Amino acid sequence: MSELPIDDSGTRAELEAKATELRTQIADLTRPPEGGATIGFGKRIGEGTTQAIQQMADASTAQTLAEVLDQVERALTKMDSGTYGLCDECGTPIGDARLEFRPWSVRCVDHADG
Ligand SMILES: [Zn+2]
Repeated sequence: MSELPIDDSGTRAELEAKATELRTQIADLTRPPEGGATIGFGKRIGEGTTQAIQQMADASTAQTLAEVLDQVERALTKMDSGTYGLCDECGTPIGDARLEFRPWSVRCVDHADG
């Protein structure tokens, strides 16, 4: 029996599902508020401020999700080029435990920026 490369078909499906999920979440968060479709808590003092804070929080969340999406897409690219599981910075294996926790990891624990 010959040595098989790591079967990454399951991981690829997982990454693609994650990318789709992230794109949906980002689209939801960055969708401009529609007139009449805002959540109605009734008119009260500070409502505009609350809404502005919520929009800032949404933008911040969208930014974080976009960064993860970048990594997911990078991981998929690495899968295509055969470097999946290797650190982008130093080329050493990222490690199974880390990849199991975050299959889209593209850097080893030493070079992780988050
Ligand atoms: Zn590294």
